[in-house]
Amino acid sequence: MPDNSEQHSRRMARKKAVVDAAIARADQDKGLLLVLTGNGKGKSSSAFGMVARCLGYGYKAGVAQFLKSRRDTGEEKFLGNQPDVQWHVLGDGFTWDTQNRDADIATAQRGWAVAQNMLKDDSLHLVVLDELTYLLKYGYLDEKQVCNDLASRPATQHVVITGRAAPQCLLDLADTVSEIADVKHAFRAGIRAQPGIDL
Ligand code: ATP
Ligand code: MG
Repeated sequence: MPDNSEQHSRRMARKKAVVDAAIARADQDKGLLLVLTGNGKGKSSSAFGMVARCLGYGYKAGVAQFLKSRRDTGEEKFLGNQPDVQWHVLGDGFTWDTQNRDADIATAQRGWAVAQNMLKDDSLHLVVLDELTYLLKYGYLDEKQVCNDLASRPATQHVVITGRAAPQCLLDLADTVSEIADVKHAFRAGIRAQPGIDL
């Protein structure tokens, strides 16, 4: 049976007290490591949303795109031109066609060297490592090295890592992990990627 208005007010007051107490307890600041994983849509676009939030506060951000299947995405057109954003496309050299593993490892390691520089740069409030998980999954980068570099970044720097199948070591190191489920995707109904939404 639905609440009458008095019951509803009491219930809401109790809820507010619990929420207010939880907010009061969370009184620490920290550079966060966020991992956005899972098979659903919304990982990279969420990361770029956080870049936009940072820019709103006048912070600087760095983005590394480790796999790039399309050129000229909306995020690169817009955020790549912002003076407070460093935009690095590091995945153009992957050789899916020729399957040259040594060349791919070399590309991944060159890319990681760029990421390492950002992870040492305390002027960057946020670093996005977009689609990093695949390089770990294929063994192109050493998990231990990546986790060590992440753990030794500046204490106030936030990092967002995106990509499916994030390895356990990243989940363990992360402060916030979201797994986005693929409940439905328009592509499976024959709808091509829509500019502004999918790219
Ligand atoms: P987005 O960049 O839109 O936030 P994402 O980072 O979560 O997506 P990726 O695996 O990086 O997902 O794929 C990027 C592209 O693939 C986007 O165009 C997205 O709409 C599409 N895509 C993501 N998930 C799926 C899915 N489950 N089925 C089909 N297409 C998908
Ligand atoms: Mg993505």
